Amino acid sequence: MAIILRVDVDKPYGKHTLTRRIASKIKEDFFPLWKLHTGYLTHLKEMIIFCNNQGVRGTFYHRLCTAPNQEILNLLKEGGHQFGLHLENSKSKESFLLEWENFHSFPNCLNAKTFSKHGSGVHKLGKYHYPIYEPEKYIQWANECGYEYPSGNGIASCASELYEDENGYYPNLFWIEPSYRHQGFRNIDEVLFVAKKRNVVVLIHPCNFKADSETRDDFFLLIKRAKSEKIPVISFLNQ
Ligand SMILES: [Zn+2]
Repeated sequence: MAIILRVDVDKPYGKHTLTRRIASKIKEDFFPLWKLHTGYLTHLKEMIIFCNNQGVRGTFYHRLCTAPNQEILNLLKEGGHQFGLHLENSKSKESFLLEWENFHSFPNCLNAKTFSKHGSGVHKLGKYHYPIYEPEKYIQWANECGYEYPSGNGIASCASELYEDENGYYPNLFWIEPSYRHQGFRNIDEVLFVAKKRNVVVLIHPCNFKADSETRDDFFLLIKRAKSEKIPVISFLNQ
């Protein structure tokens, strides 16, 4: 079986320097649709190039403020990745559809159909973010409107919580960021053990890949170990 790599692209300029933190926040809250420019998504580019060199595929979810430009789209295509929307305004079906309409208006983004939800219901993460986390609602919208919502944001507390349900939906995942993991389920070896028998979903944020060495090291370790155990790393589309 396989590791399904989910990548939530949260930060337009990353957060690895103070300037980038500020620039990210300004674009997120004031100019989300601005099409730019120097430094935009360079941290993501670095991560995709790493994945492409390693033969690792994944599903990349973009907020409107981190929509892929042509360079990113080319890299995603080159690596055989899937991409979609990282949903922020999930207040109503209307706001959901409006966010899709905006996302589809970016060049070459019209065919995207898969989405994940930004935030897990605890904090309001920006001006356009609806913080409440309601996965049942998203599953329903996906079914009604022809979209795919393959995984939720639950933090698995043990290996069996990584299993998909009878509809193929993964409510929980394993976070590559060590600080986001459940206290009782932190070991990458346990994830690899399960992934030999069935598909499991892991989640990483490119801003943390760049800014946090522990996250990056654990990602490198996971990829290296998956390779040596012959466990493919794939997108939701490839499963
Ligand atoms: Zn997010």
